[in-house]
Amino acid sequence: MSEALCAVTRAYQEYMEFTEEQLCGRCIPCMAAAPMIIDVLERLRRGDATAADVDQLERICAEVYVTALCKHGQKAVANLSQAVKDYREAFSLHAEAKRCPERSCTEILRYQINPERCTQCDRCREVCPAGAVVGEPYVPYRADNYPYVIIQEKCTRCSACLEVCADKAIEVV
Ligand code: SF4
Ligand code: SF4
Ligand code: SF4
Repeated sequence: MSEALCAVTRAYQEYMEFTEEQLCGRCIPCMAAAPMIIDVLERLRRGDATAADVDQLERICAEVYVTALCKHGQKAVANLSQAVKDYREAFSLHAEAKRCPERSCTEILRYQINPERCTQCDRCREVCPAGAVVGEPYVPYRADNYPYVIIQEKCTRCSACLEVCADKAIEVV
């Protein structure tokens, strides 16, 4: 569903490319830092990181830069560090607001129902393969119609509900 990759995803992909193609294990700091860097980037992408993790990422990059034995190792952390500086707002949004405006970090996305637009037609509940939608079809004479909501813990972000909602009541944030 994403059209453009966010800065965090781009940084993640670039660093992963380095680990897959160039990381050789000759020096310990570069080798030891890789799983820590990947862990922070993956947590940022799924909304499990904090601002302190972003600071830690910068510290790790700075340490590896001065100890790396080759230009590939230096370049990998220098690029990552530069990405954090250039796109600080994007990194902060992932860490603090748990948001990915480009929607390229699918695990961080929240599908939610806008009650103002929802006509309680029940289509989303019917198609949801995860049983993540709860609610009851609208009954005119009832005052206690149960509104439709998406249980975030159950949602697998498959977008099936999005496709059937004719009222554009499902928002992805
Ligand atoms: S800095 Fe270079 S030599 Fe050292 S482990 Fe990383 S890729 Fe290998
Ligand atoms: S498909 Fe849309 S309008 Fe129908 S219940 Fe779901 S959110 Fe509401
Ligand atoms: S995105 Fe998929 S899993 Fe989540 S509420 Fe919609 S249909 Fe269910």
